[in-house]
Amino acid sequence: MTPQFHPCLVNGPFDDPAVYVDFLHERRALLFDLGDIRALSPRKILRITHIFISHTHIDHFIGFTQVLRLCLGREKTLHLFGPPDFIARVEHSLASFTWNLVGNYPTDFTVIASELHPDGTCGTVEFHCRSGFKREQERTERFADGIILEEDAFRIRTAFLDHKTVSLAFALEEKDHVNIMKNRLMELGLPTGPWLADLKRAIMRGEDDDKLFRVRCDVEAGMEERRFNLGELKAKILNIVPGQRIAYVTDAAHTKANAAKIVEIARKADFLFIEAVFLDAEQAQAGERYHLTAREAGLLARQAGVARVIPFHFSPRYRGMEEALLRELWQ
Ligand SMILES: [Zn+2]
Ligand SMILES: [Zn+2]
Repeated sequence: MTPQFHPCLVNGPFDDPAVYVDFLHERRALLFDLGDIRALSPRKILRITHIFISHTHIDHFIGFTQVLRLCLGREKTLHLFGPPDFIARVEHSLASFTWNLVGNYPTDFTVIASELHPDGTCGTVEFHCRSGFKREQERTERFADGIILEEDAFRIRTAFLDHKTVSLAFALEEKDHVNIMKNRLMELGLPTGPWLADLKRAIMRGEDDDKLFRVRCDVEAGMEERRFNLGELKAKILNIVPGQRIAYVTDAAHTKANAAKIVEIARKADFLFIEAVFLDAEQAQAGERYHLTAREAGLLARQAGVARVIPFHFSPRYRGMEEALLRELWQ
């Protein structure tokens, strides 16, 4: 099956971080972190609907002004997610410009900012161009199991890491593809109809295999009700293809608590983007700066059983020595 999501680093591993996730056959994309995005074309930036920001150290948020400049004057809504105090950061960034002439723009570019707290609350505020980007529509919601966005095809999960400030890790989890094998359905004499949609929804909800389905079938004598449990239907008529997983982990100290959360959020990912800032010889310095070394990043990737690991956020001191960082990562 053709993958639905195509992630890539916007820059080389020494530059300010951003990972662009393009959607197949949709003019849509997501972004993890908002570092230097000058390499993205305006067309690609305008496809972005949601940006997930680990924390607001300048190397992870400097791209905000560029996005703002490009989107201004367009009918567009951009939803940003970040750690505690994020709304104030967005508000102050917006307030650093003069907005006296935007009140009667024909379009209303809107920034929605959500800040996530470790207690499971999410504060959200809207900033509309036509109101001069003043704070509006304040609300607080709750989120469970780290799930901060749920759509039909995928969800986004977060984890709170310690970087002497909160740094958010993210995972994009595509939902499983549930395909009904029509030939098997016919062989078993089962009809198509709304019950198949119920069946798909039961799978999406992760219902138990003993859940019972009653199917009304046409037989010579009239109608007959046949019963199957979910496990049987999975085996007989369904082809379930697991969805993709993409994890993004950056700016985190190598503590026990962080390591456990990183392994959990990256588990079995198809792609893990992970910082590898220092060589292991500089582990003491990595600890002081609350960053991972290449060796630590590689170990975490192996513990999580990821298929591919893409390191980034190399310290500039290693320019020309990428090989050494990569060797440690793969060791
Ligand atoms: Zn940082
Ligand atoms: Zn950083």
